[in-house]
Amino acid sequence: MDLQLKDKVAVVMAASKGLGAATARVFAEEGAHVVISARNAQALHATAQDIARCTDVRVLPVVADSSKAADIARLIDTAVRTFGRIDALVANAGGPPAGRFIDFDDAAWHNAIELTLMSTVRAARAVIPVMQQQGGGSITFITSVSVKHALDNLVFSNSLRLAVAGMVKTLAREVGPDNIRVNLICPGYTATDRILELAAAHARRNGTTVEAELAKSGAHTALGRVASVEEFARPCVFLASPAASYITGTALVVDGGQSRSL
Ligand code: NAP
Repeated sequence: MDLQLKDKVAVVMAASKGLGAATARVFAEEGAHVVISARNAQALHATAQDIARCTDVRVLPVVADSSKAADIARLIDTAVRTFGRIDALVANAGGPPAGRFIDFDDAAWHNAIELTLMSTVRAARAVIPVMQQQGGGSITFITSVSVKHALDNLVFSNSLRLAVAGMVKTLAREVGPDNIRVNLICPGYTATDRILELAAAHARRNGTTVEAELAKSGAHTALGRVASVEEFARPCVFLASPAASYITGTALVVDGGQSRSL
């Protein structure tokens, strides 16, 4: 199947590592030029060079913090000034801190809201006029399987990602007439560096191995294992591509069957 991404332009936020980086790489492999952002310039430029070396598209790194309004505006503006259009936006940020309800004060909630909710609001607000003017596009928000079922010790994710889900349902209806599709993608356990580091820490504490700790996490899924980053990135790029032209206002769960709800 042709995803119809050749010479299209994709912006992937928070993409020097993990799910964002893997998604940007698949876009590039499919022939789309990519704009990637993150806070650490060195890691971001290294990822951009690596993707550019393995593909024949242009890769533009823009240092930007997803939790800062001015950075998001600059990211979208730079992408448009460089490429003249944005066909796909994948909005992403680092995960909010783990913890229980009782652990967090107002300041912590405000920070989490800026990172997990307002980053998506601002990214969509910045890119919609661009997509309206060019006649369409897609916006995909990377959230979590916490949209489908509450995860222990993750009160911010369990609360704020549902706000993003509600926004997607509303926004999809509002911008559908402009040929703009808006969707959520909800990863489950995926073997990013962060997850591998956590598994390594648990292995040290429990006297086990990284593989054994990953196997414990994967045991909660129907497939009995965690995902590779590519297993997340491929459906993400499909959802964002013109090949998914009739899919909007929905949540695509990529969790290996971890969630028991429909
Ligand atoms: P990761 O491996 O830790 O990578 C995070 C990437 O985002 C890095 O490139 C990082 O670069 C960038 N980043 C972090 N905070 C940022 C910010 N404020 N502004 C801009 N860039 C930022 O994370 P991941 O596992 O790919 O997770 C991505 C998202 O998916 C998170 O929201 C996470 O909670 C969610 N998620 C992940 C999983 C999983 O199993 N991996 C499961 C469910 C949900 P800098 O640090 O240089 O900015």
